[in-house]
Amino acid sequence: MQRHKELEKNTVQLSLEKAWLERWTEFVSLFSSQSDWATFGKVLGTIGSGSPISNEDKLIACAVLSNFRRAQQLLNELSELHTWLSPALTSKERVSLVDQHAPELSAEGMAFQGLRELADLVKKNPIGAAPKRRSVAVRVVDLRRSKPKLSWMQATIECCNCGKPKHTQGCMQVVRQEVMALEKVLHKYGIHPTDNVKV
Ligand SMILES: [Zn+2]
Repeated sequence: MQRHKELEKNTVQLSLEKAWLERWTEFVSLFSSQSDWATFGKVLGTIGSGSPISNEDKLIACAVLSNFRRAQQLLNELSELHTWLSPALTSKERVSLVDQHAPELSAEGMAFQGLRELADLVKKNPIGAAPKRRSVAVRVVDLRRSKPKLSWMQATIECCNCGKPKHTQGCMQVVRQEVMALEKVLHKYGIHPTDNVKV
C-alpha cells in the first residue's frame, strides 16, 4: 500500500514508464505487416537468381529495411529507459501498464487487439532488473521538484538506500551524479514529468 502510494505520486517514474511503453508499441508496430515481410523474403530469395524484381517489391523491401534501422534505435532507447524503471517492472506490472494506457494508444491508431497481443509479448519477454541505486535518483528528482528549497544533503538523507546508519558526503556526491545522469536521460527523451502526468 505504502509503495503503491509512493509510485502514484512519483511522476518521473510514471513518465519514464510511458516513454518506454510508447517506444515498445512503435517497435511492435514496425513488424505488424505480414505481407511486407513475405515480400521482403521474396526479394531476398530473388536477388541471387537474376530474375527481375518489380519496383513495387523493391520499395516494400526498402521500407522493411528502414523499419529494421528504426527498430534498432528503438531497442537502444528501450534498454536505456528500462535501466531507469525502478523497481524493475514485474511482468504483471508491465501488462497492467499496457492495459492502463490502451485507450490513449488505440486512439493514436493501434487497434486494441494489437495491444492485447503486445501485452502477451511483454509478458513473455522479461527484461533484466534495473540497478537498485537508480530508484534513488528518480525519487530525489521528484522530491526536489516538490520541495525546491531542499538541500542535496537533505534529499540524500531522505532517499539514499546505501544501508549505512548515517549518510555521508560520499552518499551525497553519488546521489548528485546519479541525478545528473537521470536529468540527461529525461532531457534526451523530452520528458517533463509535471507537464504530462496528473499528480
Ligand atoms: Zn547513504
